[in-house]
Amino acid sequence: MDKSWMNLRDRLSDEYAIGVQTFLKVAKNHVDQNGKTRCPCKHCQNAFWKSIYDIETHLYKYGIATTYQRWIFHGEKVSVDYNERINMSGTNRLDHHETFTVNDDVDDDDEMIELLSDVCGPIPNRDATSETTNGRQRTHIKLD
Ligand SMILES: [Zn+2]
Repeated sequence: MDKSWMNLRDRLSDEYAIGVQTFLKVAKNHVDQNGKTRCPCKHCQNAFWKSIYDIETHLYKYGIATTYQRWIFHGEKVSVDYNERINMSGTNRLDHHETFTVNDDVDDDDEMIELLSDVCGPIPNRDATSETTNGRQRTHIKLD
C-alpha cells in the first residue's frame, strides 16, 4: 500500500485527501461496537479512540503521525516472518511423534505398577495384622 502521502506537508492537496480516504476505508473495518478506533493523527498518536468522522477531521487538522507506517492498530499485519514461524511449529508430523512416544511410556508404567503391587502389596497388611494381634495378647497377659 502506498503511504507516501503520509509525509506530505500540504494537507489540502488531492494526494493527501486520497490517502486519508484510503486510511479511513481500512479503519472502518476495525471499529469497536461504538464505531470508534484509534486515531493515528499527530495529536492522538493512536492513544485515543475516535469515530471515523473525528479521525477524518483530525487527519486534516493535525496531520497523520508519520511514524505510523504500519497500520497495526487497523488490521495491518505486524510481520510476515512471525506468521511463517507459527506454521513451522504447528506441523502435524510433530504431533504424531509426540503421541507415539507418550504411548510407549504408559505401557512401561503399567508393567511397573503391576510388578510393585504383586511384590509389595499384600506384605505390609499381613505384618500390620500380626503385630497388632501380638501386642494385644501381650497386653492382656501383663494386665492379668
Ligand atoms: Zn486524532
